[in-house]
Amino acid sequence: MKLLILGNGQLGQMLAQSCIQLGHEVLLVNTRSNQVVPAAAHVALPMSIAEAMEWADIVSWEHEQLDPEHVQLAADKLLTDAEKIRPLTHRQLEKAMCDALGIATAPWNSYDSQSSFLEAMTEWQQPVVIKASFGGYDGKSQWRWQPGDDEQMLVAEAGQQPGIIEAMIPFRCEVSIVGARARDGRILCYPLVENVHRQGILSHTFAGFQTFPTHLQNAAEAAFRKITEHLGYVGTLAIEFFVVGEGEQAELLVNEIAPRVHNSGHWTLTGCNASQFDLHIRALTNMPFPELSMTPTLMLNAIGCEQVPQTLWQHPHSQVYWYGKEPRVGRKVGHINFRDISEQQAHALVSDWTEALQLLS
Ligand code: ATP
Ligand code: MG
Repeated sequence: MKLLILGNGQLGQMLAQSCIQLGHEVLLVNTRSNQVVPAAAHVALPMSIAEAMEWADIVSWEHEQLDPEHVQLAADKLLTDAEKIRPLTHRQLEKAMCDALGIATAPWNSYDSQSSFLEAMTEWQQPVVIKASFGGYDGKSQWRWQPGDDEQMLVAEAGQQPGIIEAMIPFRCEVSIVGARARDGRILCYPLVENVHRQGILSHTFAGFQTFPTHLQNAAEAAFRKITEHLGYVGTLAIEFFVVGEGEQAELLVNEIAPRVHNSGHWTLTGCNASQFDLHIRALTNMPFPELSMTPTLMLNAIGCEQVPQTLWQHPHSQVYWYGKEPRVGRKVGHINFRDISEQQAHALVSDWTEALQLLS
């Protein structure tokens, strides 16, 4: 089949690779310059976006901030209704959707102006995280507050756009579930993985070193099913959770839902017989899903650094993914997957290399 991917960043490129592996044709749209481009080259093709949409059988995306013009041009070639995805690009609507579906999140309230921000803040007697409704990623457009801090200081910044205030969760750890829902409704999820953030940015993912209790895996998969069925979603989707409580009492609170392939699923490129990118393409084209077989894998992000140290290129268990992007502080420029290592080795790699690989501020 012929696929057109909106976005040609690293996620678009990795989706394109899966299209090639699975025997499909693929073109990408550079959504910054509004040009049609081939995979793995920044060369504009002599083709309008309308022509590329005409060429394609299926249109999909690497990021959910869709241009309304693209949505209109793509019409029914987008297999998920773009209008239904809109709540996932708006924190107030996303939280409200979880509430309506009976899916637990951190307690929250919302504000729409500087005065309603101050009013909403009066309800909080505990530490909170304030998040702008739109445009936040990698911890951007977020503020922290705790009793005793001056909320007036935050009004100018946080209050200048709509947003939410949510309880700061003293989580035991953060996890995510990544999975895919096919055109015919089949669903396949990977096991829960543990994600560690530094300064609000995903630093690394531990996949398969520890097994989470079955009740948490079941709860995550139930949330996945509820959300994707509610959205009529086709493709790969990720849900980030906070784990609170211990043992049998442990519970999941949804933090964020990403209707696309996700950084916390990058380990699947190395640690699984089908990656999250393969699953997305298989879901869109209604190809069979595999029986998953997995190897414990560490995914370590390269953030803002100029290069990957020689030692890691040469590491016998590493697979390096370099995005070819201009390094900037806080910008994800690559990731390294390590497989067939012990949990102890995974922790040692993290403590030995995160400083060198991650320029956060
Ligand atoms: P992403 O890049 O994943 O889209 P983001 O910038 O949109 O991230 P969040 O995922 O909401 O934002 O927050 C980033 C990180 O900040 C979380 O993974 C978590 O570590 C921390 N964080 C966010 N909200 C809370 C909270 N309510 N309680 C505790 N920690 C939080
Ligand atoms: Mg997040």
